[in-house]
Amino acid sequence: MPLRRIRNLIIIMLYITIAFVITFYILSLKYPHASAFSYETCKATYNMTDDLFKTLNGEVPEGASNVAAASESVHLKTAPAGKANHIAVLMYHYVVPEKYNIEPNNARINLESFKEGMKYLHDEGYHTATLQELEQYVKGEIQLPEKTVVLTFDDGYQNNVVYAYPVLKQYGFKANIFIVGTKLSDQKQKFVPTEKTTISRQEMKATSDVFAYHSHTYNLHYKRLVQCAEYYAAGKDSTRFVHDIELMKAKTGITTPYFAYPYGEYDPQMVYDLKRNGYRMAFTVRPGFVHPGDDPMYLPRMNVTSTTTVRHLLNLPDE
Ligand SMILES: [Zn+2]
Repeated sequence: MPLRRIRNLIIIMLYITIAFVITFYILSLKYPHASAFSYETCKATYNMTDDLFKTLNGEVPEGASNVAAASESVHLKTAPAGKANHIAVLMYHYVVPEKYNIEPNNARINLESFKEGMKYLHDEGYHTATLQELEQYVKGEIQLPEKTVVLTFDDGYQNNVVYAYPVLKQYGFKANIFIVGTKLSDQKQKFVPTEKTTISRQEMKATSDVFAYHSHTYNLHYKRLVQCAEYYAAGKDSTRFVHDIELMKAKTGITTPYFAYPYGEYDPQMVYDLKRNGYRMAFTVRPGFVHPGDDPMYLPRMNVTSTTTVRHLLNLPDE
């Protein structure tokens, strides 16, 4: 009898083992980076190349990562009346008429809403400051009118030139585009409203009366698989980042001291590398106003969408 019981026990244990193996196998298929089965595969893939993961480039709506966080900066609220106590840096990415906005998200605004926002700024008498002005303002070197705003566009989409430029020009506004160096094309691309084409050198020159162009990295606008199951902004690798800064300056000729962190992700090493390479001011995607005395390497921005309007953002309480 005891022998039979032992045999039964062994059979039961065998069944349990088989069930475990099958469960793990199914889980490994569903969560390729989370299971012990695919860990080696994951590591091997990572070591071989991370170029594969560049396919994520541009597909993450950056505006979506606007997680509210309280500003840790010291605010010097000493500006006299009629002078700006704070300034909103507005952030845009992709601008197209509503009928072409086929995949609406927080990084895509309808042209109609964009126009409405610009009209509001114009009607309210807003001054659109340059980044040079903003830098001096943050350092406490100059004062700016109470109604001052800074306009920024990330990624360098051709639709910024086609749709936003004429509107900005009409109002005599100044704006800034943070370009991804490798996306700056030599030849003007055929513009199709539903496609994510980017600005050419020719368009960059032709629109320089309105747009100032700055760096959004040369080729680090993608998320990189750093450890299995974890993606980080590619700029967080210091060696790559410093090399990328050199490439940006050499290949695009864009050498302004202003920078926007891809996906708004930064760390102290990136700030150190930027400063060592002549950058003096950098933008995150953390919402909030800019004040004199703020750290210029971590400036917040307000993401404007078709539903979160300029009027709403500019009239938010300053926390
Ligand atoms: Zn971007």
